[in-house]
Amino acid sequence: MAEPDTPRVAALRGHVRQAAVGLREIGLEIDRDPTAIDRWLDLPAVHIMSGCTIPPEYLESPLRVDGHTYDMSSCLEHTVTIEELSYGDASFMLACPGPIMSGVTVGALGDDRQRDAYYRRMAAPEPVWTFFGLTEPGKGSAATELETVLEPDGDGFRLTGEKRYVGNAAFAELGVVFCRRAPGPLGIEAVLLDTDTPGFHAEVIPTVGMRGVRISAITLDHVRVEREQILGFETRKPSRRGLIGAIQTLQRFRPVLTGTAVGLCRAVLDHVRAQRPALHGAARRRLAEAQDRVEAVRQHNYAVASAVDAGRIRADRIAGVKTRAAELAERCTLLAAELLGPAALLEDPLLDKWYRDARAIEFMEGTGHIQRLAVFQGVLKGTFLDRAAAAGA
Ligand SMILES: Cc1cc2nc3c(=O)[nH]c(=O)nc-3n(C[C@H](O)[C@H](O)[C@H](O)COP(=O)(O)OP(=O)(O)OC[C@H]3O[C@@H](n4cnc5c(N)ncnc54)[C@H](O)[C@@H]3O)c2cc1C
Repeated sequence: MAEPDTPRVAALRGHVRQAAVGLREIGLEIDRDPTAIDRWLDLPAVHIMSGCTIPPEYLESPLRVDGHTYDMSSCLEHTVTIEELSYGDASFMLACPGPIMSGVTVGALGDDRQRDAYYRRMAAPEPVWTFFGLTEPGKGSAATELETVLEPDGDGFRLTGEKRYVGNAAFAELGVVFCRRAPGPLGIEAVLLDTDTPGFHAEVIPTVGMRGVRISAITLDHVRVEREQILGFETRKPSRRGLIGAIQTLQRFRPVLTGTAVGLCRAVLDHVRAQRPALHGAARRRLAEAQDRVEAVRQHNYAVASAVDAGRIRADRIAGVKTRAAELAERCTLLAAELLGPAALLEDPLLDKWYRDARAIEFMEGTGHIQRLAVFQGVLKGTFLDRAAAAGA
């Protein structure tokens, strides 16, 4: 099993843990009014999120702790950071400005000029929200079947279609839109788009949980796109851009999202312990069992994230740990509601919020069914249940 707490990771964890103190109360405020994030932009947690995945040389004050500099290009360090911020409040964390998923796509697919322009913009002193536009109303999980089209128009293109459930799109300045330039999976492109381009429109969709993420519906009505906005268009073959960027981003982000689920689970279980210090008998055992399961997923996730850093992308294991964490997040909130008593969901605003937020994780970055398909492929190939392979995730 990977042991993540090297002095470097431990220093990062300690710093982020401090930055996460006090986020729960603010998270409740953001849950009532997701635009309330605007009042909290000076917090260290926001600074951490804004700089994630931006190379330090672009930032005036990159994240430095105990002599170490962090840019979250490490999946493990990113995962630990997001886990600790989510222990504070997952919805707050997702409300923050910064590259979030779009940065990983630009890093994976963009040419030098595109990356440089993106990082310069993200490093500006003013907060910049971004979005990652993949999901569509008609196709949902089926990314390879997306219908948003990129049609030639003179020396450029026009983008037309719809995106749905896209985090922060209604507040973003720019983001990545996945679209189809030609039939088949190789015809998919990733376009970096400014939201003030004529024809772009996004509005927030009301949701019950994880309200900080402000999931939005986007309409694209013949939006003008220049060739240089298509990520990697001039430098990569069609087989090395577009869809591969979506897949790389999702695989790189699933351990990070699993960190969100683990942070939320830890918060819920610690809350139960704090509220009911005298729990005993079967109730105490159930809490301890949940704690063990969360710890197991956490360790497994660190192994998966470390494997990603080592260049070993194991889609089945990434999918397995994400599914397990999403299930556990739901189970921990159900257990907490049982152990804290029938009225707790009505009387305890934190539990009520965690209960609602936990249910979003199932859908983020691929539903449980889609993850199970990846796990099943691993079972068929003999990689998922292979203990020796599991040791290196
Ligand atoms: C909080 C939150 C934030 C999000 N942020 C973003 C974002 O920033 N960008 C973005 O692009 N999207 C985002 N999403 C959308 C998310 O990626 C989608 O919800 C997800 O892809 C599923 O799509 P869908 O909701 O249309 O469901 P569908 O794809 O319609 O699925 C409905 C059900 O059918 C099942 N299903 C679908 N296909 C299959 C299959 N082939 N085999 C078996 N079962 C199947 C699914 O598992 C699910 O249970 C976000 C969602 C949430 C909840």
